[in-house]
Amino acid sequence: MAQKVAKTLTIGGDSGSDSALSQMAEREQKLKEEQQRKEEKEEAKRLQQAEKERKDLERQKEAEEEEKQLMEELANSKDVDNREHLNLVFIGHVDAGKSTIGGQILYLSGQVDQRVIEKYEREAKDKNRDSWYMAYIMDTSEEERAKGKTVEVGKAHFATEKKRYTVLDAPGHKNYVPNMIAGAAQADVGVLVIAARKGEFETGFEKGGQTREHAQLAKTLGVTKLVVVVNKMDDPSVKWDKKRFDEVHTKLIPFLKTCGYKEKDITFVPISGLKGTNVKDLVPKSECDWYTGKSFFDTLDDLEPMERDPNAPFRMPVMDKYAEMGCMVMGKTESGACRVGQKLTLMPGRIDCKIEKLWQDEDEVSLCKCGENVRMKLSGVDEKDIHPGMVLCPPNKPAHVTQEIECQLAIVELLDHKSIFSTGYNAVIHIHSVTEEIEVKKLISEMDPKTRKPKESKCKYLKAGSIGVVRITIASPICVEKFSDVPQLGRFTLRDEGKTIAIGKVLRIKPKSEEIDNMAKTAPVAV
Ligand code: GDP
Repeated sequence: MAQKVAKTLTIGGDSGSDSALSQMAEREQKLKEEQQRKEEKEEAKRLQQAEKERKDLERQKEAEEEEKQLMEELANSKDVDNREHLNLVFIGHVDAGKSTIGGQILYLSGQVDQRVIEKYEREAKDKNRDSWYMAYIMDTSEEERAKGKTVEVGKAHFATEKKRYTVLDAPGHKNYVPNMIAGAAQADVGVLVIAARKGEFETGFEKGGQTREHAQLAKTLGVTKLVVVVNKMDDPSVKWDKKRFDEVHTKLIPFLKTCGYKEKDITFVPISGLKGTNVKDLVPKSECDWYTGKSFFDTLDDLEPMERDPNAPFRMPVMDKYAEMGCMVMGKTESGACRVGQKLTLMPGRIDCKIEKLWQDEDEVSLCKCGENVRMKLSGVDEKDIHPGMVLCPPNKPAHVTQEIECQLAIVELLDHKSIFSTGYNAVIHIHSVTEEIEVKKLISEMDPKTRKPKESKCKYLKAGSIGVVRITIASPICVEKFSDVPQLGRFTLRDEGKTIAIGKVLRIKPKSEEIDNMAKTAPVAV
């Protein structure tokens, strides 16, 4: 029995160790196979990564080469208008003379026919408003403007020998503050119009008029240079009196400094917008013997050129698109330059495309600098895949894509039924050509409006008039840049129920994804 058991055991033991062995071998084989698969996978991944890096490098090289060529062409080209282009926004109290000056500028720069002026003069006389005819040029209905072709909706262009100008948001509209904000958000230079007429300067400035509000808003929106036009110098209460001009100067300077303007960036020019005195040509000594400065046009012409980085990456937010024998997009080149044949990418989404044709205003051109209104025909992309708000940029230096930003906000005014701005507040952001819903995620700090330093106490809410640092989330991914990198793509307004409630600057960008994060690290305009 014992023998039998032992035998069985031996047999059992033998067969048991066999199967254990084969199981072990099987496991080992499996492990080996697994290891091999893993290695293969890793190798494939490595290859893929190497291929991606090679492609990225190729792309980068190609784009850099393209950029170099573009710079050379720009430097040598006669095709490009080398006059600097400046966007102007007119700000100031109602009735200070903004529309009148706007009309006068168009007339003096030869854009309005004498006959048209006479027509307006007659019309104004008929309505017993003789002095308003200049303003009529700027204030005509949009339909009439379109017919006259001199003033586009909200914009007027004029040029001198030295520079080309766009007057943004042709003033004179009733509901001026929102328009002024939209204009100032794109402006390079602010023209603050002050009426020197007795009592008018006081109403505009001293008694809580719009002069203060506009000057402050413009600064918050990033306008750093101001030309203060002291208007209505011809008025019987002024008669080109030096004392009045000096009084305006003395009272405004301390205030403008508290807004953050530097004295070297503010120039005062006395003019009569109505008569056109000292607008284009210097005021004659017979009319004003004490003024030693320049005319308004010469002041603008001689402003230091804007600090635009010629090597900044190309950025053009798409304002509109349509199909016409191909894919057409329209927009303003906010930074960098572009040329026909250049490869670009549309962000967000990274849609690669190429410029086939290029128009600046109405003229077909081969290259184009920044600050221009352009139209492009693109290849390699379907018009249906493009949306206003996308940004055209070089493939090696794409714009930042994000759904969360930290920004400095100045609350302009709040809705009666939503008078407290705090975490959870919903509004709509308007930044370059994008409109998107946002939510306030966190109030980081409130700033003392006087010292512009953060207050010590914890910030629970912001009211109208306060300035704070706020984190907001955006409903869909959008392209933005830090204000300090590309101001035009880094300043915005917040609107709620059609009202502008706040204006802001982008301070920090939270990258959208790892891919974007990596791109941001390699791109020179890093977060
Ligand atoms: P806005 O509200 O700032 O656009 O001001 P307007 O251009 O509509 O001008 C308001 C009023 O001031 C009108 O009656 C103009 O004729 C008058 N005005 C504007 N500029 C001058 C000026 O240089 N001299 C005089 N005497 N009146 C002016």
